[in-house]
Amino acid sequence: MVTEILGDDSVKAVKILNKITGETRILDVEGIFIEIGFEPAKEFFKSMGLEVDDYGYVKVDEWMRTNIPGLFAAGDAISLWRGFRQIVTAAATGAVAAYSAYQYLIEKGLYRSGSFK
Ligand SMILES: Cc1cc2nc3c(=O)[nH]c(=O)nc-3n(C[C@H](O)[C@H](O)[C@H](O)COP(=O)(O)OP(=O)(O)OC[C@H]3O[C@@H](n4cnc5c(N)ncnc54)[C@H](O)[C@@H]3O)c2cc1C
Repeated sequence: MVTEILGDDSVKAVKILNKITGETRILDVEGIFIEIGFEPAKEFFKSMGLEVDDYGYVKVDEWMRTNIPGLFAAGDAISLWRGFRQIVTAAATGAVAAYSAYQYLIEKGLYRSGSFK
């Protein structure tokens, strides 16, 4: 694990601790990406009345419908494919959510071809 970032105006190296052997070593690097994990905005979702899964992600069905009629969700915020977050999956679910929203407006008679009512 990284225990220290070394450098002056820019990153030059990191100090690494081998947690098994207790050994430390210096690794020269030119940059660092910090991975902090995922934390969904569960309180915000709940405040809207959205159902969330055990991890706080918005529950959706295969058409990206949430428990609130007319409200659709997509991307990293949803329960679907949890653990596999990619741009392509976010875009795919976004496309489905947009299509579902379009269908919803038609079903409710709020949209006719080319114009909103
Ligand atoms: C470090 C890192 C590296 C990654 N590398 C890759 C990769 O190589 N390939 C890949 O496919 N995927 C990668 N991903 C995952 C990918 O970035 C995400 O899966 C994708 O961006 C999710 O898209 P999204 O639209 O759901 O969310 P986001 O891209 O996070 O977009 C959400 C947007 O909502 C905005 N927002 C948040 N709260 C509010 C609010 N209250 N009001 C208004 N706007 C708000 C945010 O500012 C943000 O612009 C990486 C992710 C990280 C963090």
